[in-house]
Amino acid sequence: MKKGRVVIISAPSGAGKSTIVRHLLDKGLNLEFSVSATTRAPRGREKNGVEYYFLSLQDFREKVGEGYFIEWEEVYSGQLYGTPKSEIERIWSRGSHVLFDVDVRGGINLKKIFGNDAVSLFIMPPSIGELKKRLLKRGTDLPEQIKMRIAKAEEEMKLSPEFDHTVINDMLYKAEQEVYDIVKSFIDR
Ligand code: ADP
Ligand code: 5GP
Repeated sequence: MKKGRVVIISAPSGAGKSTIVRHLLDKGLNLEFSVSATTRAPRGREKNGVEYYFLSLQDFREKVGEGYFIEWEEVYSGQLYGTPKSEIERIWSRGSHVLFDVDVRGGINLKKIFGNDAVSLFIMPPSIGELKKRLLKRGTDLPEQIKMRIAKAEEEMKLSPEFDHTVINDMLYKAEQEVYDIVKSFIDR
């Protein structure tokens, strides 16, 4: 199987990562989204095998023991997320490049694993105040969860120098263009 390239996108929750990832996947760069496994419940219209593979805590732990994941993290208390090795094989065997949307620690770990075959991008909110506003506006998280995500974001922002590129998501269209340019030039290299 011919190895493709790897694009890693990480950000504190609410910085706009999902919005930017959706835009990038529509751009004809032959990127495919790597579907992670998680122990959290599906939100809204999420379907098993599309946004995530939804697993019980017990099944997730069993898979950890079997070496099923290339990396996994307890992203929030009691909520585990992991990248199945099989996703990379599935995507590369179709001749596509892998797009990982993972938390900040997962992004740093995946970059270490894939080295020069990967480019890693950190999406930075313009400020903590603006991050809070976006999380409130999105309306998918309870006030305590927002507090937890903000506290985590402050720690995560300190890790941005570990990424190949940091993109500030102030004006959305500019951030989307910058991410596209970085990924396109990496894939064409
Ligand atoms: P993440 O995936 O990083 O948690 P989302 O993509 O869900 O973040 O974005 C969080 C919220 O902020 C969403 O409601 C989204 O529409 C909004 N948003 C994203 N980028 C911007 C931006 N540049 N300016 C204002 N709002 C934004
Ligand atoms: P959400 O619950 O909002 O979908 O995701 C929460 C966080 O978990 C996001 O930062 C997302 O990128 C991250 N995440 C999703 N899948 C994985 C994974 O396989 N590994 C790691 N480390 N983080 C993940």
